[in-house]
Amino acid sequence: MALERTFSIIKPDATARNLTGKINAKFEEAGLRIVAQKRIQMTKAQAGEFYKVHAERPFYDELCTFMASAPVVVQVLEGDGAIAKNRDVMGATNPADAAPGTIRAEFAQSVGENSVHGSDAPETAAEEIAYFFAGIELVG
Ligand code: UDP
Ligand code: MG
Repeated sequence: MALERTFSIIKPDATARNLTGKINAKFEEAGLRIVAQKRIQMTKAQAGEFYKVHAERPFYDELCTFMASAPVVVQVLEGDGAIAKNRDVMGATNPADAAPGTIRAEFAQSVGENSVHGSDAPETAAEEIAYFFAGIELVG
């Protein structure tokens, strides 16, 4: 399988509960390497731009308010098949449907406050990494 990079966010519900280290341990145990990482707080406008694909969905405004409500940790994860591997480690969007042992099964509070974001395809991964990181910050 090809070496890939994917984009990840540890969301406000998780940073607020001091879960950054526990979530990072899940990534590392799954063979994902954290090759870039920083803690930031997004404005609602920045969250809105990031999630613009969901602009017409009923949960969009609440989602953007939540994502701007507290600091997040934005990350680039690298590994073989990193995009799919990260989605596996995250678990289903709704924690009620997430497989045991996944991040969302263990830590998510609700379908909205579900602890992590992960890119869903190579194109979105590249776009999302470029939204938050300059090339010079990606040292591998
Ligand atoms: N979301 C929500 N309600 C829903 C579906 C999604 O609040 O019914 C939020 C949730 O935080 C989710 C994000 O919107 O992680 C993006 O939704 P998506 O369908 O892309 O899920 P993901 O890719 O994060 O699993
Ligand atoms: Mg998604």
